[in-house]
Amino acid sequence: QRRPLIAGNWKMNGLSQPAATELGELVRLSNEHAGPNCDILICPPATLLREMATIAKGSAVSLGGQDCHAKESGAHTGDISAEMLKDAGGDYCIVGHSERRADHGESSAVVKAKAEAALRAGLVAIVCVGETLAERDADKTLDLISSQVRNSLPEGATATTTVIAYEPVWAIGTGKTPTPDDVAVVHAHIRKELGSLINDSDKMRLLYGGSVKGSNAAELMAVANVDGALVGGASLKAADFWPIVETC
Ligand code: 13P
Repeated sequence: QRRPLIAGNWKMNGLSQPAATELGELVRLSNEHAGPNCDILICPPATLLREMATIAKGSAVSLGGQDCHAKESGAHTGDISAEMLKDAGGDYCIVGHSERRADHGESSAVVKAKAEAALRAGLVAIVCVGETLAERDADKTLDLISSQVRNSLPEGATATTTVIAYEPVWAIGTGKTPTPDDVAVVHAHIRKELGSLINDSDKMRLLYGGSVKGSNAAELMAVANVDGALVGGASLKAADFWPIVETC
């Protein structure tokens, strides 16, 4: 009943070339395999968004931003608003990625404001949550996730406007992943938490992210309450990303 979303987060990677080639290849694959059973999304650096939108136009590949400012416009040097992402061809925006939370000190309150900005601009917000290794070792994972979900979710969130991505910080870019059982526990916990927060909680998509690749995607996507993936490294090349899309 929940249509999976396979999302690629290019992070701070991508110059026009080879980005245009890789996105072009992804579009070609998605056209060739008409009707993949999932939504496909690429979040390139903002500098590439408009160019990538031209390439993806009319295809099954959607585009999004990796972050946005909470305000619509104004004196915020270097920042980009959700409205600008929408204007450049975006339909989604990742907010609260652990790299933003860590590198830019973004609290859940800041993430919530950004998620609300995404909704205001008509973008789907992908709200990221996830524990560090120290938090996992101290058995704080579920409490931390509860707090991040409760405090980062935008006001008025629905299953159509909001997606949650669970990304254990220690699994990002490390080649390490939690076991399917560990993922199942966290995703069930998020689903339960959502039940007390929104009406259509059973319809909201919960993505798993952290070292997802072609060889482990099928196993992770088969876990209960996992409705897709947020992929970093393996999303940069169409040849690596497509096998993940094909697990749907
Ligand atoms: P990797 O897939 O490179 O581990 O990155 C995951 C991630 O942070 C996606 O947002």
